[in-house]
Amino acid sequence: AQARYANLRELPAQAKCGSVIDLHMNAGLMADLPSLESSGAEGVGLFRTELQFLIRSQMPKRAELSALYARVMDAAKGRRVAFRTLDIGSDKVLTYMKPNDEPNPAMGWRAIRVGLEKPGVLRMQLQALIRAANGRSLTVMFPFVAQLEEFRMARAEFDKAMERERILGHPLPADVQIGAMLETPSLAFAPDIFFQEVDFISIGGNDLKQFFFAADRENERVRRRYDTLNVSFLTFLEQLIARCKAHNTPVSFCGEDAGRPIEAVAFAALGLRSLSMRPASIGPVKHLLRRLNLDEVKVVIDEARRRGDQSVRGAISDYLRTQV
Ligand code: PEP
Ligand code: MG
Repeated sequence: AQARYANLRELPAQAKCGSVIDLHMNAGLMADLPSLESSGAEGVGLFRTELQFLIRSQMPKRAELSALYARVMDAAKGRRVAFRTLDIGSDKVLTYMKPNDEPNPAMGWRAIRVGLEKPGVLRMQLQALIRAANGRSLTVMFPFVAQLEEFRMARAEFDKAMERERILGHPLPADVQIGAMLETPSLAFAPDIFFQEVDFISIGGNDLKQFFFAADRENERVRRRYDTLNVSFLTFLEQLIARCKAHNTPVSFCGEDAGRPIEAVAFAALGLRSLSMRPASIGPVKHLLRRLNLDEVKVVIDEARRRGDQSVRGAISDYLRTQV
């Protein structure tokens, strides 16, 4: 499939209306790195650092992590890599950390909640990232931030790690971008100042959708019940995008839906200009985006909403059939 879209690799995902959508890839394992070249990704929009923890039988050491992150940055050759700090808990369980017996792990003690309450591993990881950057740019994002204060506390951990490195006389990153993943509806309604303080927002659509519809992403019985293109969810995304625009906060979408062509088209029509997806999706999504006028797609979405369609999928699919 990659070969089919090889001729698009160096071309931008520029739609007929002129809008350019930046397409990034999701990664987490060393095996993903060759895709940086083959997929035509602009960078890594989501590097899931927990995968390196999940494939080991014991806690990795700081030096080991630092070497690994440096290899990722080397492979990226100056392209941006958004390192997502450890997202453990919920569906991701480490055998070497005391298992938590929680009634509902997806809404439990996970991700940044663990990182802030037991900061040892987070601090080690932040230091490893700073050392790996070694004078290069560094982009870090925190998973599952539900409120402003959590972002502030996580950023304070980062600032402390920077200060420790500075005192030790180690080289600091040339420039630092610190973002939050928006995976709970609550964060979309955070005070304005959150949008000003955060360097960027990355929408974790997999979790965001499960909490928006209260439908467990792991439960086969309900997980497909609610369409991502449901007008309620799209309207929510649209309002979030508007808030980001109002504050000039860069925003991207990195859940699995970003790699699904109809979803990607809808997100772009609603104003998202950055999507991160599995590498194999970049070609097909770019191919489709380049053939469309997003202003027309927006009209199709608005008409579907006015009619009271539950989802805009049918309307967009019908429109696409007339175009491609
Ligand atoms: C998400 O929730 O959309 C996301 C990108 O993170 P993960 O799938 O790793 O939970
Ligand atoms: Mg998530």
